[in-house]
Amino acid sequence: MKTELLYRQDVCQTEFSAQVLGCEEYKDRFAVELDRTCFYPEGGGQPADRGTLDGQPVLHVRESGDRILHLLERPLEVGKQVEGKIDWEFRFCQMQHHTGEHIVSGIAHRLYGADNVGFHMGEEVVTIDLSVELTPDELRRVERLANAVVQQNIPVEETFPDADALKALDYRSKKELEGQVRIITVPQADCCACCGTHVPTTGQIGMIKLLQPQKYKGGIRVNILCGQRALDDYNAKDQSVMDISHQLSAPPAGVAQAVAQLAAQQDVLKLKLAETQDKLFQLMAEGVEKEGTLCLFEEGLATNDLRRFAALLGEKRSGISAVFCRAEDSIFRYAVCCHHIDLRPLCKDWNQALNGRGGGDKALVQGSVRADRKAIEEYFAVL
Ligand SMILES: [Zn+2]
Repeated sequence: MKTELLYRQDVCQTEFSAQVLGCEEYKDRFAVELDRTCFYPEGGGQPADRGTLDGQPVLHVRESGDRILHLLERPLEVGKQVEGKIDWEFRFCQMQHHTGEHIVSGIAHRLYGADNVGFHMGEEVVTIDLSVELTPDELRRVERLANAVVQQNIPVEETFPDADALKALDYRSKKELEGQVRIITVPQADCCACCGTHVPTTGQIGMIKLLQPQKYKGGIRVNILCGQRALDDYNAKDQSVMDISHQLSAPPAGVAQAVAQLAAQQDVLKLKLAETQDKLFQLMAEGVEKEGTLCLFEEGLATNDLRRFAALLGEKRSGISAVFCRAEDSIFRYAVCCHHIDLRPLCKDWNQALNGRGGGDKALVQGSVRADRKAIEEYFAVL
């Protein structure tokens, strides 16, 4: 006996009574077959319904041949009459997104010849892969037309054309299909073969929002949000803009400009900081012994600053000038300069002695060592 698909008769039915036709062990779960069900099994890019059966959470619903299997943690007695209930909030969200996806894909196909080459309904977003790289303006046009279809609250049509009618019909995802083909039509937007669940009228989608696309395999991948998810996303982004607006004391519409100003100010400050640091390096270089090996420890120097300071000391002094800066707990970065000897063999030697790595040219080497300050000082004291 084949399971009666209640979601095909009334997509808005959420509760039902059914008889258990079979129950078998499936991996570490139990696969239950019913005489009728509201549970949509995973397929056609749409995830399985969630809900409860005889009070137990339904962990997954899958098709196996022409059977629909409800996976449960505990077995159900064959012949038992059970009550089922689907998670309507979840299902309605899937229906909104699935129908929204039809509208967007259909319009993108009609206007720009873009094929939907991939479709994924995830927990957070639904992604559509389009074969054509639409420009931002083209995407906005698709979005505007898609929302016009929503606002007109058009009934979504379901038909099962016979073989001849099907042959003559122009619809998306047309290919040789076995058995009866179900055609979903959203007038003005789409005509496509599909087995999923859809809202009865387009107005129930609420709204369709296309997020910023990414380039993907010669086309684009675009995330779509419908209904409550679109509103939630709007609220999250609105809050984010308000937070930035308060922190920058800028009006919400001017936050991008305010951030650009801040970045420009930061560039100026960085430049000033570098100039000040150079002056400080000059002064420090004046105050040290000009001969012999010098080993300095400085805090918080970036790699470039470390190098600049060592090079400056190397210009002013005849001996080896080593500058160390703590990077992590027992790691010190170093830059060492001397214009009067070849530093490379020495560098190799202290890398070995102090568990380090690095190198460079004859007069200036850079790297890091994993050793404590005392060991470094002792090494350089006898160099
Ligand atoms: Zn569909």
